[in-house]
Amino acid sequence: MSENLHERAQRLLAESAVEGLRPADEAWLREHLAECPACAMEASVTQNALRALRSVPVRVPRDLAARTQFRVRLRAQETSNGSNGSFWLWAVTAASWLLGVFSAPLVWRGLAWLGANFGLPKLALEFGFVLWWTVPPLLAAAIILHQKALTAEWSNKN
Ligand SMILES: [Zn+2]
Repeated sequence: MSENLHERAQRLLAESAVEGLRPADEAWLREHLAECPACAMEASVTQNALRALRSVPVRVPRDLAARTQFRVRLRAQETSNGSNGSFWLWAVTAASWLLGVFSAPLVWRGLAWLGANFGLPKLALEFGFVLWWTVPPLLAAAIILHQKALTAEWSNKN
């Protein structure tokens, strides 16, 4: 008989979580929980789990929305402060790097010819080769960054 009481308590606990209880059942459950530590424990575990479950969907979207808004605002700022500049920076850098790649065999042959005719050390030739490859993109990047700085200064003054 007492086993039935605990089973009834568990069933009512489950029902109260899903659809709520009739007042008579609720009163009976409250009374049983006050007398029975095992069911009271079960009830508090269930309630904690339910509370955690309910608080999650509320907390996550609010935080997410705030973060998304922040990100959108950041993005908007980026777009208005000349993301064009960084596009050209990348385009020019990529173009000059590609030019370096495609012209590399020619340059290497030219450097080999120089080395053969003027007796330049191999290290100098290799260094020249590396410079040919790395300097134009760096130069292009430097020019664009400088122009960007100038534009920023100009728009700050006006
Ligand atoms: Zn019980």
